[in-house]
Amino acid sequence: MGRLFGTNGVRGVANKELTSELVTRLAASCGHVLGKNIALGRDGRVTSPLFRDAAASGLQSVGCNVHDFGVLPTPALQYAVKHLGLDGGLMITASHNPPEFNGVKVMAADGVEIPRRVEDEIEGVYFAGGPKAVEWDRVGEVRHREVLGLYVDAVVSKVDASLIRSKNLRVAIDPGNGVGTLVAPTVAQRLGCHVYTVNAELDGRFPGRQSEPRPDNLGSLKELVKATGADIGVAFDGDADRSIFLDEMGEVLWGDRSFALVARDYMGKHHGARVATAVSSSNAIVEVVEGAGGSIHWTRVGSVDVSRAMVENGIDFGGEENGGVMYGPHHPVRDGSMTLALILGIMAERGEPLSKLVAELPTYAQSKDKVRCPNELKQRVLEALRTKVAAPRVDAMDGLKLVFADGSWILVRPSGTEPIFRLYAEADTQPKVEKLVSENKRLIEETVKALSA
Ligand code: MG
Repeated sequence: MGRLFGTNGVRGVANKELTSELVTRLAASCGHVLGKNIALGRDGRVTSPLFRDAAASGLQSVGCNVHDFGVLPTPALQYAVKHLGLDGGLMITASHNPPEFNGVKVMAADGVEIPRRVEDEIEGVYFAGGPKAVEWDRVGEVRHREVLGLYVDAVVSKVDASLIRSKNLRVAIDPGNGVGTLVAPTVAQRLGCHVYTVNAELDGRFPGRQSEPRPDNLGSLKELVKATGADIGVAFDGDADRSIFLDEMGEVLWGDRSFALVARDYMGKHHGARVATAVSSSNAIVEVVEGAGGSIHWTRVGSVDVSRAMVENGIDFGGEENGGVMYGPHHPVRDGSMTLALILGIMAERGEPLSKLVAELPTYAQSKDKVRCPNELKQRVLEALRTKVAAPRVDAMDGLKLVFADGSWILVRPSGTEPIFRLYAEADTQPKVEKLVSENKRLIEETVKALSA
């Protein structure tokens, strides 16, 4: 049996890997497994109307009623599923991927992406030929619905709006021509901010910048921050669940910095709390959480794993190093606009520039790399590595994480799609982290060679 679901939903190049036939059968299989009333939403991609129609058709064919919320951010659809009491949701989006891609993210009744075991169940139905269609008079209906107003109200209600309003903050927003444009400027305006935008026209060709916000493609936002004297800049990925921030000098803060900033504030208000995050996250998070008497619940890498760990263990705060923050009191999923509101709240409360707030956080040197390894050897290489490297703490939850006595660590993670290992490492200095990566990279290369001989 093949696999449909990747790290986060089903993705592929539209009309090549991801066809309307595939989406129709996938949607029918999802409806069959999830229940009668299914939310449907889409991002602003060129091919999203095509796949919206395919998904609606598949759902109706198995008797599901389709609640079509139109074009909206993924977190807004997730909010709709849970708060309007639907049985599940399908979001047509390829998140941050290039414009030729599209995909489907599948939500359970709690608004969180379905757990792996439900993905397996849906794949089982799909690969058995799809569910049986219902009789003609039991075909489901399509209802057009609206949730953006409710969603924005919910985000604004989770922060001290009157305090933020009193500060007249200036916010520069770059939605990257994605659906963040439909909510983020409104959230900031509702919080009394002066809002400036760039790449704010919804355009599925992503003419402004690539859909994934990265330090090297945020030049326009940086200029906007400087030209307007903004207190903060924020860029969203294509479906607005992730947000990356710039300080008032236009410096890009990578996702682990904003995550640590929000985590520190959360811990200040919830002493001793548990926080869920993936094994690839920085020691800065550990320090911030444990320093406030709290503890980390480690998960595999992937936002679904973090969100599901929050739901299953009653944890109210989580995040990822790539700019995904999950704020449980709103909902335990990544939400770019909620993260913006939380950071505006921190700035208003502290009355300090963002650069200063971030400078107070613990800082570590990081390095990422990759090394080739045939898929069939990956498991044996990891086992060999485990016996060759002396580390006081070894975590095999997702690949192999070796944690050394001085707190430095390296994570060796087999890619699910390519014949490579991804290496993530952290130490207190740059030379140290680079040495850690090069030594282990060499060791892996030698092991691969020895096992291939
Ligand atoms: Mg996304």
